[in-house]
Amino acid sequence: MNGSERRQKTVEIDIRKDLFGANENAAALNTEIFKKHGIIAIDIMGSVGTGKTQLIEALCDRLREKYRILMLAGDLATTIDADRVASHGVDTVQINTGTACHLDARMVKVALQKVDLADYQVVFIENVGNLICPAGYSLGVDKKIVVVSVTEGPYMVRKHPLTIKHADIIIINKIDLVNALEFDIDALEADIREVDAKMPVLRVSSKTGEGIDKLIEVLHL
Ligand code: MG
Ligand code: ZN
Repeated sequence: MNGSERRQKTVEIDIRKDLFGANENAAALNTEIFKKHGIIAIDIMGSVGTGKTQLIEALCDRLREKYRILMLAGDLATTIDADRVASHGVDTVQINTGTACHLDARMVKVALQKVDLADYQVVFIENVGNLICPAGYSLGVDKKIVVVSVTEGPYMVRKHPLTIKHADIIIINKIDLVNALEFDIDALEADIREVDAKMPVLRVSSKTGEGIDKLIEVLHL
């Protein structure tokens, strides 16, 4: 090869490595921030309409006398969820993502900068309603809860095995509707066990409060 010839180069990158790597670094910083302030942080994921907000409301009702709680709400737009939770006597920050269908660690960090973290002991983060990509973005929390509900049909778990795998606890919500919907909740739980035999699975009705005390126990709150 003489000097005038230039071999063509192809650069191959795995974009997930760079993007997720940057997020992992930001998540590690969030973890440090939570640790420094002695805060227990919990990320709550699930599709639109599974009852994530109602679950947080039920938790806040039982825990707000014991802990100073902050709730971060992730949505594309509106402050509907943050306002709902605030009406239960806890402070909230609404993160409007605009177009992003998940929260990432940097969004959470920005939200945490808006408050004085010395004021809080527990942070609940309601992720954007979506069962797919939130699981790919660590936020730096202590525990990840995935909420599925009996109103979403029988295949939610089988169709989203990775999201289930990344969770620390799975909530099957809206169990007050099981009979009305003739929903086979045992089959749904079996699907979860198929993905992870040791996964803690809790049957909850955020509406009636059934299972909420058990969840608090499992969260060591
Ligand atoms: Mg919500
Ligand atoms: Zn997304």
